[in-house]
Amino acid sequence: MSAKRLILSLSLTFACPHGALAADWDAPQDPFPIYGGSYYVGPQGVASVLITSSKGHILIDGGTPKSAQTIIEHVRRLGFKPEDIKYILVSHAHVDHAGGVAQLQRLSGATVLTSPAAQPVLESGKPDRGDPQFGALPDMEPVENVKTVRDGEIVSVGPLAVKANYTPGHTRGGISWTWTAQELAGAMQMVYADSLNAFGLHGFRYSGDARYPEAKADIERSIARVAALPCDILVSAHPEAGGLFERHARQANEGSTAFIDRDASRRYADDGRQRLEKTLAQEAAARK
Ligand SMILES: [Zn+2]
Repeated sequence: MSAKRLILSLSLTFACPHGALAADWDAPQDPFPIYGGSYYVGPQGVASVLITSSKGHILIDGGTPKSAQTIIEHVRRLGFKPEDIKYILVSHAHVDHAGGVAQLQRLSGATVLTSPAAQPVLESGKPDRGDPQFGALPDMEPVENVKTVRDGEIVSVGPLAVKANYTPGHTRGGISWTWTAQELAGAMQMVYADSLNAFGLHGFRYSGDARYPEAKADIERSIARVAALPCDILVSAHPEAGGLFERHARQANEGSTAFIDRDASRRYADDGRQRLEKTLAQEAAARK
């Protein structure tokens, strides 16, 4: 399979945990404010969120290698300076979320923050051998200035405080990020949810695989964790999987409160649970 075709097929698989039609990762999308100084700056198929303050900004995820320039243009179009981004946070070290991070780190000078399991992947650009999709993952440009955060650690820039919530299972090093955004309508709990789909390639089995024996237990725990997160506004790593654009469509009439959906994280986690059950059933059927 050609690299382009492989990436397309991965894109469709990544982006369709509940059968939603996947857009191309880098389909154009205008940037837009979400709530209280947090902005959507990614292309359509892979999320990137800029959390702003007068003391500097935090960016979550860098999209594909092609997305990096788009994200920088979006940041500038919103009136912010890329060099004011102090930290780039990563959900998980796959090319559709972290492939643009090396470029974004260079352009901003930011420190990149991830989990200990994902740090070597970002630093080397080489996929993790324990990744359920190992063998089908392209190399990425190695990232400089990568540091790790502990589970529960708060990343601070001026008044901003973004919490790392480890959510392994889709990869060994996945993190969902949470913070509070404030505006006149009140303070909202924001969730940037990592991918929760149990998807293996090259014979990887979530029901038990020496390459990543904890995969099933990890993703079950992560699904439960995301379902239980205090959540007013959800952005998922593939935004259409969390319903972001349906809410964005109502923004012109309803304003930023259009994004409030307190059940969104639980539904997103339910989709992950269904995907896991399907994957386990397929693995059981394949063994018969
Ligand atoms: Zn992924």
